[in-house]
Order: sequence, then C-alpha cells, then structure tokens
Amino acid sequence: MSDQSTHVVVVGGGNAGLCAAVSAAEAGARVTLLERAPEPKRGGNTAFTAGAMRVAYNGVDDIVSLVPDLTDDQLRVTDFGRYDETAFFEDLARVTKYRADPELAQTLVSRSLSTLRWMRDEGVRFAPIYGRQAFEVDGRFTFWGGLTIEAVGGGPGLVEHLARAADRRGVTTRFGARAFALRTGSDGVSGVVVRDGWREETIACDAVVLAAGGFQANTEWRTRYLGPGWDLAKVRGSSYNTGDGINMALQIGASPAGNWSGCHAVQWDLNAPEFGDLAVGDGFQKHSYPFGVVVNVDGRRFVDEGADFRNYTYAMYGRRVLEQPNQMAWQIFDAKVAHLLRDEYRIRQVTRASGNTLEELATRLDGIDVAGFLNEMKEYNAAVDQSMPFDPNVKDGRAAVGLAVPKSNWANTLDTPPFQAFAVTCGLTYTFGGLRIDTDGRVLDTGLEPIPGLYAAGELVGGLFYFNYPGGSGLTNGAVFGRVAGGQAARWRSGS
Ligand SMILES: Cc1cc2nc3c(=O)[nH]c(=O)nc-3n(C[C@H](O)[C@H](O)[C@H](O)COP(=O)(O)OP(=O)(O)OC[C@H]3O[C@@H](n4cnc5c(N)ncnc54)[C@H](O)[C@@H]3O)c2cc1C
Repeated sequence: MSDQSTHVVVVGGGNAGLCAAVSAAEAGARVTLLERAPEPKRGGNTAFTAGAMRVAYNGVDDIVSLVPDLTDDQLRVTDFGRYDETAFFEDLARVTKYRADPELAQTLVSRSLSTLRWMRDEGVRFAPIYGRQAFEVDGRFTFWGGLTIEAVGGGPGLVEHLARAADRRGVTTRFGARAFALRTGSDGVSGVVVRDGWREETIACDAVVLAAGGFQANTEWRTRYLGPGWDLAKVRGSSYNTGDGINMALQIGASPAGNWSGCHAVQWDLNAPEFGDLAVGDGFQKHSYPFGVVVNVDGRRFVDEGADFRNYTYAMYGRRVLEQPNQMAWQIFDAKVAHLLRDEYRIRQVTRASGNTLEELATRLDGIDVAGFLNEMKEYNAAVDQSMPFDPNVKDGRAAVGLAVPKSNWANTLDTPPFQAFAVTCGLTYTFGGLRIDTDGRVLDTGLEPIPGLYAAGELVGGLFYFNYPGGSGLTNGAVFGRVAGGQAARWRSGS
C-alpha cells in the first residue's frame, strides 16, 4: 500500500480514465477525476461503443472465467476456439504493418485477460458477442476474428459499472471541469489548471493521468494532421475529444508519438449528425459490407469488401469512402444476405433505398451514374466463383476474380430481389497520433525520459495503432494502460 496522501488527478472520464481512477484508488491514492462533459454526457467515446473488447484467451475456460453464467446449452452449441497472446500480437503487428511499438503491444496483449478479470472483480459484466461475431450455421456458433467478448450494456453499461466502482473506491468526480494546462515544479508535475465554466483554478497534486481522448472532434487539428478533406468527416462519438490532453502534455515538453496522420474511420450513415448521438450509439455504422458490394457515385467498386473479416478492414474503409467523389458511397445487398445484416441496418435513422431490380434500385440512388453502376454489377456478377460454398463464419475463399478490384471472400451474385442500398460517408472514430508512453504508462519527453508525475492512457497515446486496428482493441488498450497508469501514478511519490 502506498502513501495515503498521494493525490492523483485523472483527466477524462471514459474507459481509460475510469480504469486509471479505480486503479489509483485501489493502490491507496486520493483521486480526483476531472470530466469536461456535464454528467448526462459522461463517458466520452466509451459511452458510444458496443463495449466489444479484444482479449487473448486459451480456450473456453478463460471465457468462462469472464462469463461464469454461460449456460450448458450455450457451451454445447458454441465453438469459442482460442485466441492466444501470439495470435493477438500477430494481428496487431500485421494490421499496423509492423509499426506498432512491440513493447506496448506485448503489454496490451499479455495483460488483456487479467485486466478484464480485474474489471469483472470491479463490477463490469461480460457476455459473448453472439450474432455479430459468430453467425449461427447448422445450429452452431463459431467465433471468428479474435473478437468474442463485450461488456453487458455496451458502452453505457461499461461506463456505468466503472463509475460505480470509482464511487465505491472514493474517487471524487467533477463534471463540467475542463483541464487545460499542467503546472510543474522542481520535481515534476505539481498540478492541473482547470476551468469550471469560465472560473479558473489550479488543483495541486502529486501525479496526473491524462486520459482525455484523441483530437478527432477538433476540425482544425484533424485537417492539419490527417490532411485535406478530413474537415468533411463526421465524428462518430464525443464532441469533447478535441486534443486537450495531448496539447497540455506537449506544452511541457512531452514527445509526440505514433501515426499523427492516421486514424480509425469507418463507413457511417451519410446523414448522421456532425458528432455522435448517444441515443443512437454506434447504430450509424454500417459493417455488413463483406456480404455485399460498395460502389461510389460513378457506380464503381473501390475496395475489396471481402479482403478479411470485418474486424480487420472496417477501421480503414472510412478513409477510402472519404476519398470518393462527394465523400460518399452505397453498400448494395440482395435478399440472399438480408438475414446477415447487423441490427444497425434496421435503425429508424438509416439512409436506405430499395428496388425489385437493379435497374429500379439505380434510379433511386441519388446522383449515381446509372449505366456505370449497371455495367459494374454485370461484370461483378459474372466474376463470382460459384464453385466455392458461401460461409460467413470463415474466410470462405468464395471470390470475384479478374476484376480491377477483386473481392476475396463472401462473394455472392447480386440477383435476388429485393435489392437494398445504404448510403454511407466517412465516420471518424478516433485519431491514432498522441503522446509517447513507456510500458508503465509514464509520459516521455522529447529526450525520451519520463516526465516525473505524468502518465497517460487510452486514445491520446500514440504508438500502438498505425493505418488500421484490430476491432475491439481500443477499449482493451484504455483498460490495460489505464489500470497500469493509475497504479503507477498512485505509487510513484512513495517510490514503491
Ligand atoms: C461509435 C463508436 C463505437 C466504438 N466501438 C468500440 C468497440 O466496440 N470496442 C472498442 O474497443 N472500441 C470502440 N470504439 C473506440 C473506443 O470508444 C475508444 O477506443 C475508447 O473508448 C477510448 O477511451 P478513452 O477513455 O481513451 O477516451 P474517451 O472514452 O473518449 O474518454 C475521454 C474523456 O475525456 C474527456 N475530456 C476531453 N477533454 C477533456 C479536458 N480538457 N478535461 C477533462 N476531460 C476531458 C471527454 O469528455 C471524455 O469523457 C468505438 C468508438 C466509437 C466512437
């Protein structure tokens, strides 16, 4: 147990900040959590998620340790397989083109299971992601793509349970409190300057954990760092993640790290609002594209919809849509795969058109090159290799070949009415560039030395994700490094 008088300030009350606060309090610190949003909008991006969390596990026993209430019937009809640490590490390395910091990656992977068990001990409940991550085929569910577990209640449930844990452990939470500068003294960070409305105060403390999210909600920064056109992207989640935490640390000499021109961005309903809507959550996303085709206003396909499981492509394809004319595209499906469409295709706010023939559908796709679209569909249908059976639970190798843009798996001819089209644009989830930390969550300065008393976790850390991201890694990242950073922040003054 550390010195009881250690005072840790956590900036940001999403998953990473709440895990840091709970962990610091568990280690004996007095903890103040500053959250910029008012209480009804608490939870940051975390509150917008479905709560899916990527975790390494060696088999069904590890799953049962997270979900002890699984029934015998569920166990009988489910193949959880295994997704061990090596598989998680390799997925992270592969999708980031081998740029992910190997030490941070190893920490994330090797602590994922123990961190979820700790969250469970703190009151978070988990369940398998039936339906979205395992389709029922011949009465059995087979999990695919390394993503098996979600928090019960999704993002809102996760926030609620972590916030209750923080309350139980005596964390003081201040809402409407925007941190905007760090104070330093002769032995490192000594306080946080915070605005409550326009009232300004400095909170003295022994250590600070920054967990204030990325800069995706800052139009100017994202255009500056992600590049031209990113001002036109929609923000999927919180309007409060404007880069404050990153800025505060850079101002005192912290080192920027990671993929500052990169981000996680998905296909998102064309008419979604500028920022996320908590009542809709992640419902504006459109993630069943592996079972259809995606075309732009010229009627042309521009991505391999079946290059890999959704979990390994969805975070890249928002950028590809942003690059298209009018920053938009249509996802097209026929009736054969309608039952595979995720729930998000049935929300009230969806931008959809349908038709009984492809010709009829084309007339309802505002602004599309009708002849170009019909020609593209004809060529695509002719290219589908019908000799391979279709199986949504595995990479089935049922390809459309010989096209300028191939489709590598799950290719079906579009021939069964009714046909449906869903209009999408780019939805930006969060930015990948951020602060440089070590495996203890300490923020490093530009000389690569730790800044005494400064820690960081979650979206505002750079160095783990480049270009792409294995689905469900964001929450696990925030939880693992939030827990580490909170514990380290509580202990560092006492040197234990
Ligand atoms: C629609 C959507 C769906 C997603 N689905 C998933 C999923 O299923 N699984 C997954 O792993 N990831 C998912 N993600 C990504 C995931 O949300 C993030 O990786 C994760 O929540 C980041 O946690 P965080 O604590 O770092 O940031 P956040 O949860 O965003 O928390 C940051 C907090 O800091 C506060 N803040 C900002 N500035 C200040 C300041 N100056 N002072 C005080 N407070 C401040 C913000 O208000 C916010 O509450 C999704 C994201 C979105 C938008």
